[in-house]
Amino acid sequence: MSRMQTLDQNDMTENSRAETRRKTTTVNIKNILVGGSHPVVVQSMTNTDTADAKATAQQVAELARAGSELVRITVNTLEAAAAVPEIQRRLDMMSCSVPLIGDFHYNGHQLLREVPECASILAKYRINPGNVGFGRKKDDQFATIIELAVEHDKPVRIGVNWGSLDASLLARLMDENAALSKPREAAAVMREALIRSALESAEQAERLGMAHDRIILSCKVSSVQDLISVYRALAARCDFPLHLGLTEAGMGSKGIVSSTAAMAVLLQEGIGDTIRVSLTPEPDQSRTDEVIVAQELLQSMGLRAFTPMVTACPGCGRTTSTYFQSLAQDVQQFVRGRMPEWKLHYEGVENLSLAVMGCIVNGPGESRHADIGISLPGTGEAPAAPVFIDGAKHVTLRGEGITDEFLGLIEQYVETHYSRRFPDQPS
Ligand code: SF4
Repeated sequence: MSRMQTLDQNDMTENSRAETRRKTTTVNIKNILVGGSHPVVVQSMTNTDTADAKATAQQVAELARAGSELVRITVNTLEAAAAVPEIQRRLDMMSCSVPLIGDFHYNGHQLLREVPECASILAKYRINPGNVGFGRKKDDQFATIIELAVEHDKPVRIGVNWGSLDASLLARLMDENAALSKPREAAAVMREALIRSALESAEQAERLGMAHDRIILSCKVSSVQDLISVYRALAARCDFPLHLGLTEAGMGSKGIVSSTAAMAVLLQEGIGDTIRVSLTPEPDQSRTDEVIVAQELLQSMGLRAFTPMVTACPGCGRTTSTYFQSLAQDVQQFVRGRMPEWKLHYEGVENLSLAVMGCIVNGPGESRHADIGISLPGTGEAPAAPVFIDGAKHVTLRGEGITDEFLGLIEQYVETHYSRRFPDQPS
């Protein structure tokens, strides 16, 4: 496949997504535009105690630096709400302008009312209709949050989750279903309850004065097939932008694969305006993995570009040393490490493509398809590593310094192939 064919294929991906992209309103979250024809937005959530302003601000900044365009924080206690101004102050000191979203359950109506500074600083409120309150208090408490959002001119996400689905709504739908001559399966009623909870809450919010283009919806479940089914139905029944995510996706490869399997299908159908990959981090592991996975999902589908992509072969019996694995890792780490600075200075550098290949079988071919590629010698091959730049052989590297020389060529390529940004141009 030639470089040109690769580009054509990307265009086709874009076109097929553009043709099917669901028509939605656009919601402005502190100048981050969600929905309409705007790119799918990556978001994440902290796992610090929000009352600990220092730790929370640090993690928000870390997530933002990794590429999270919106960051959600739990606001669950008076102390957490009171810490929001200090978190924002610390973020301002770090020149971190990522919008902060408050996640409210049970007592959001009280916290937003009692800490007006928190209500005013947060860029959006997330409300879960399943646990905004119980019995007769539910509607009043929901109304209070919506009225405060209107007063402070904040958009909201009405985020339903099947783990906290509105029990009274589910019971009502189960009763209606039982009265049918041919009742549907309980799982179908559950999916309908999720959708109805989101849609009815949005209607209620609009009746209370919330503008239509200040509402985002989500209906998260933890099963891949249920998520696809729920979002297809939800997308067909409203024009609100949708936040996508497989809730409680799990740890490691399981969480990544399940989230990707579900979201890729929906994104390809044009469904989804903002995404989060809800990974459980390994103990002491960085929270930023969920941001990187979300970015890689969008980039590998050709929907957005965030950072240069490194194509690497899996290796096989033809490459018995670990050198090629180390080089692939070094290149990946190098571009991720350089990206914050490159992004400031070089326009379009995120589209750079790199290849690190293990032997002559596919090495030269794949390397020619990348902007810069290297084909390492496999077992029994001459100890030489040809480097291809823009499809043509550029140089052959040998000896101990291959890694440093190849990284130098990447740096040089960036400097010479991407136009410089002026200091005041936004990145
Ligand atoms: S390029 Fe060579 S080393 Fe890599 S997987 Fe293919 S045959 Fe194996």
